[in-house]
Amino acid sequence: MERELEQLAGGSLHGRVVVAHLDWGRQRLGQVAWARLHEGLPSALARWLDAGIDPHAWYPFADCVALDRAIAAALPEPPRQSWRAMGRHSASMNLLMDGAPHIADPHEVLRRDTMLQGNWVDFGHARYQPLGPNGGRIDLVEWSCYADAFCVSAEGFFERAIGIYGAAGPRVTQSACLCRGDETCRFEIEWE
Ligand SMILES: [Zn+2]
Repeated sequence: MERELEQLAGGSLHGRVVVAHLDWGRQRLGQVAWARLHEGLPSALARWLDAGIDPHAWYPFADCVALDRAIAAALPEPPRQSWRAMGRHSASMNLLMDGAPHIADPHEVLRRDTMLQGNWVDFGHARYQPLGPNGGRIDLVEWSCYADAFCVSAEGFFERAIGIYGAAGPRVTQSACLCRGDETCRFEIEWE
């Protein structure tokens, strides 16, 4: 398959995201496969991991994407399936850690999450628009860094985020994506 577009330089992801993706990868791979993957990593990336991920620090977007790709490449399922699962795991770890405020409405969850977008990445903005009682749309605006692994993990993140707060059958797709040459990443979100 032709490689999708990407822009890796200049941005950072919060350590909490990296910790969650790493945690998912290590659990999924098991100790032996993880050790094998670690051996095959570029030395700069391996050193970066060996220093220990600080959940309060920021990490280069490019390294985070490289790590997500390395984990997915070591697993038998299609990479997009792994990246989506990493995003879901990140929502489970990080949103529940936030103390799970009592929000009953998925719209409120998504509005809050786009408001708090600066907690996860240090670039761009996100905008939430409700579309009817059981759906809405998130647009990423002035997004300077993008890559397939990150976009797909964001789909999983939003999906799990509204699931945590009670939305049944959440579905998230991207109707537009910077990685496909579109002007924005647009996440279409629906639930039952
Ligand atoms: Zn995208």
